Amino acid sequence: MVDGEETFMTATDAAGRCDDGELSQAFLHDIRGRLLRLRDEVVRLVDVVGAVGTVESTWSNGELALAEIDRALERIAAGTYGRCSGCAAAIAAERLEMMPATERCLECRHVQETRSSSH
Ligand SMILES: [Zn+2]
Repeated sequence: MVDGEETFMTATDAAGRCDDGELSQAFLHDIRGRLLRLRDEVVRLVDVVGAVGTVESTWSNGELALAEIDRALERIAAGTYGRCSGCAAAIAAERLEMMPATERCLECRHVQETRSSSH
């Protein structure tokens, strides 16, 4: 039986979240697949050039990218994916689609960046 995958794909809704505000299983399934592919890509790039500045501008190096992707995969497994690690607010599904490995909402990201650049 291989039609389980099919069901996941067709059940994807545009917003990515169910009525209760939780991320839908289809959305998480999709994000997980993208993270795994992204991880493969990063591993390959690290092997070749030792840096992945081109993959995602917010990542300064490959190891950082891998750590972030791994943490995202762990959060999916734990059921905490999509919650900001800073303030626990729900991260917008659109933002997760653009940056699947992100673990902070825009606001917390901004605070973090302001802090690290003022140093
Ligand atoms: Zn936050």
